[in-house]
Amino acid sequence: MHEIVLGDVTVTRIVNVVVTAEISPATSFPGSTTATWQQHRSLLEPDFFEVSTNTVRAASQVWLLRSEGRNIVVDTGFAHTQQPGAQANDTDLIQGLTAAGVRREDNDVVINTHLHEDHVGWNTYLDGGVRVPSFPNLAPGHTPGSSILRLQSGSDTALFVGDALHTPLQIVQPDTNSQYCEDPTRARRTRNQLLGQAADTNALVLPAHFPGHGAAEIERNGN
Ligand SMILES: [Zn+2]
Ligand SMILES: [Zn+2]
Repeated sequence: MHEIVLGDVTVTRIVNVVVTAEISPATSFPGSTTATWQQHRSLLEPDFFEVSTNTVRAASQVWLLRSEGRNIVVDTGFAHTQQPGAQANDTDLIQGLTAAGVRREDNDVVINTHLHEDHVGWNTYLDGGVRVPSFPNLAPGHTPGSSILRLQSGSDTALFVGDALHTPLQIVQPDTNSQYCEDPTRARRTRNQLLGQAADTNALVLPAHFPGHGAAEIERNGN
């Protein structure tokens, strides 16, 4: 578990899944080349890329924000054991939050950056075969499209960018899309905009799938 303090907000990372499946750069980021990944290996190894096996590494994480007595969960991770018919494992995220000192009923807000299954998995869970809301005291809500959450507290700013970034390679090469970007043109534009904004406002960037430290500071190199 990692904690970052931004102004009056405590941000806690709860790792939901560490993806160890072998995914090659060509599969994960169509259009990127092995040469590009190797060129940036000093940035990417060992947390994000393994040159010897040509494998991309990813995590799936949930961010817990605590501010002024309120608890906010950004994304709810991947319920990989909750496919229909599968044995339910009802402990992961709820256990992770409990270990961080937050019970199910203590959560005030859940923000799903978007509705891919690795971001909404623990919105509900199976309790004795019955699907129930994980956090019973939320105000219900719905956000169409991908969203980016901007946090400002004191002089600190952070952007929770969901899946706009999957690897630091996309920081040095913002035009690189992942295989999950459904609208490649808009994905590129959004990525360039948010990185520029992060650099210009000194905002910490917190994507959903970065292993390692989980967060990144952005600096301009040219435009
Ligand atoms: Zn996604
Ligand atoms: Zn995702």
